[in-house]
This record gives sequence, structure tokens and C-alpha cells, in this order.
Amino acid sequence: MELARRVRRIPPYLFAELDRRRAALAQRGVDVINIAIGDPDLPTPGHIVEALARAARDPATHTYPPYEGTRAFREAVAGWYARRFDVALDPDHEVLALIGSKEGLAHLPWVFLDPGDVALVSDPGYPVYATATILAEGEPRAVPMSAERGWLPDLGAVPEEAARRAKLFFLNYPNNPTAGVADLGFFQEVVEFARRWDVLVVHDNTYSEIAYDGYRPPSLLQVPGARDVAIELHSLSKTYCMTGWRLGFAVGNRHAIRALGTLKTNIDSGQFVAIQAAGVAALTGPDAPVRERVARWQARRDTVVAGLRRAGLDVPLPRATFYLWVPVPLGFDSVGFAADLLEHAGVAVAPGIGYGTRGEGHVRLSLTAPDDRFAEAIRRIGAHLEARASRAAQ
Ligand SMILES: *Cc1c(COP(=O)(O)O)cnc(C)c1O
Repeated sequence: MELARRVRRIPPYLFAELDRRRAALAQRGVDVINIAIGDPDLPTPGHIVEALARAARDPATHTYPPYEGTRAFREAVAGWYARRFDVALDPDHEVLALIGSKEGLAHLPWVFLDPGDVALVSDPGYPVYATATILAEGEPRAVPMSAERGWLPDLGAVPEEAARRAKLFFLNYPNNPTAGVADLGFFQEVVEFARRWDVLVVHDNTYSEIAYDGYRPPSLLQVPGARDVAIELHSLSKTYCMTGWRLGFAVGNRHAIRALGTLKTNIDSGQFVAIQAAGVAALTGPDAPVRERVARWQARRDTVVAGLRRAGLDVPLPRATFYLWVPVPLGFDSVGFAADLLEHAGVAVAPGIGYGTRGEGHVRLSLTAPDDRFAEAIRRIGAHLEARASRAAQ
């Protein structure tokens, strides 16, 4: 059976071998601590679960949903943007419900790219930007990011030929995997770039609420005129610990919103109305459950960063996201260090190369495991690195 070219063009899954080793260790009864994936360990707030239960009992929710999302959900999104970012959105034309933000990200290239068109994707970055571009027969072009620039791309360094052919520009701040953050000054530059080259900016703002020490990440739509050239995606997955529920939304440029909605009417039929009702409860409900969860992650961040630094790793303190982006020790590449930690400490982390060539030299740890598992992970990593250092010294 021959697969379509567009599917064959998806890059091979780099971690198959690591996954196999992890499974083999687990099979042998080794207790592997998995901090490779970013999936909140804390439950969805109770009032949101209750709202789903109530809505699910109402037969009115059992029919096909409106394609663009329920009016109540779109109004809740607009209300949340007004309160959180002071950005006014028209719920009828500037808001679209998504079946998780990944769904919107994966469908956008189908709306905007003809074969051979370029999508600019941050490197390192969330892998969906590039793979969705490939599936739509577009050409992903890496926009390099580096620690020196705080993991912000140098827009002036984008080759003119790529900028000219680009139709989409995927960005994500606070950033997965680097935990880099952007201010409005940078977003202003992005908007100017988009105007100059006539590209649609797709800002993935999934982590806007997962931020520490009082930091409040901005929305790209706070830049005056941004909605002429941009849409922003958000997800209830990380903010409200709802990864399994599959609910997100896109906001901003009305032409892009309408076009994405048109594509979606031909593919999916929207998200279950009761889940959208739960989304309304999330977006209009109390902030305390979100604040409590973020406080838990912040405390964990402090303990884990301190522990890993004691173990000799040079770990930056993230201001946002639940990721630690850790430079690998000298003599390792990212896959090699991940394999080393897996074999000798029983700890699974994500190699940076999986997020793009500029992710080489780092591994990503996710703070989404229970505190006692982290205490154990730090103990094991510390013991392993110390043993290796003393061997090296002999
Ligand atoms: C988790 C994540 C998503 C996907 O969110 P869903 O709404 O669950 O699809 C999108 N972008 C980034 C950067 C993420 O880390």
C-alpha cells in the first residue's frame, strides 16, 4: 500500500528509539519517571466538570453544534479577551471555536498555502507548525531562534526570498519548548513585518496564563492594527487543565477566521455543545482555580530548578510555561543526554532536536508530574551526574 507523498514527507519520528528503550525498561520493571510530555498533572477545576455534567443532561446539547461555535462560547471568549487583554472582539466575526488549538493550527495551512508556498516557523518550535505545512504541500522555512536573543527570532535575518513567498508566520510566546517570552515591542515588529511582506501571523498564545512571579504575558492583538494581519489561537487545555476535553479558539482577523471556519465546515462539525458550555464556565468563572494551579507549578519550578542546579545542570528559571529548557552537559547532544538520563537515572526527558535543529543542545523537562516524582527524579539525576563526574575525575 503506497502512502500519499504529503504523508511520506512528514519527518520521521525522532524519538522512536528512545520510546522503545523507555518501554523496554518499564517492561523489565524499572520505574521510569516521565517528564517528557507537557500534560497538566492537576485536574480540571470542579466547577467546570459540574458545568459539563449539567449541560450533558440537557438534550438540547445533543445535536450538531453550530459550525462557528455556540454564541455563548464566542461571547465568553470575547468577554475574556476584554477582561484579560483589554482587546475588544466581535463574537460574530472575530471568534471561532476550535477542537483544541492544535486542530486550528493544523487546518490553517490548508486555508492559506498553495503547493510550494512558504510558512515561516520558529525553530525550535511546536512541531505541528511544520508538519501541518508539509501536509498542505507547503514549505516550512525555519526562522532561527537562540538563547542570545532570548529565544526571539531576528526578523531582519529572514531571507527576502523566503519572506516574499511566505503566506503564514507561526509564532508562540510564551514559548514551548524554550519558555521564551515576548513583549509588545517585539509583537509590534512582527506586525510591521507582516504588513511589509503580506503574511498572516498565527500567534499561538496557549501559555498566556501559565506565568510566574506576577508576570502577565501580552496578546499580539494588543498591538494597534494587529488584527489586519494576525490571528491568535488559545486553548483551554493548559489554562484550565483540560487537555483531554479538546476545546480552543481562534480570534482576530475576520477574513482569516471566516476562511478557517469555511474549511472546518467541510471537515469537522464542531465540538460537543456541552463541552462548549463547560468552556463558558471556565472563561467566565472564578480565576482562583487557575491562580492556585499556577502557584503549584511556580513552587515546583523553584524546587526543581534549585535541585537541578545543585546537581550541576545550568537551568534557566522560566518566567512562563511549565517547561524547563536545559542546556545539555558538554560532550552530549540532546538525544544522547536524554538516552543517558533514561538509562542511568530512569528519567525520560524530551530531546531538543525534536523541536527543530536549533533545539539541539537542549532537553525539555515538563513540570507536570507530581511533586514526589520530581523529588525522586532530582535525587536520581543528582546521583547519576555525581557518579559520572567522580568517574571522570579518576
Ligand atoms: C499544548 C500545545 C498546543 C495544543 O493545545 P490543544 O488545545 O490541546 O490542541 C498548541 N500549541 C502549543 C505550543 C502547545 O504546547
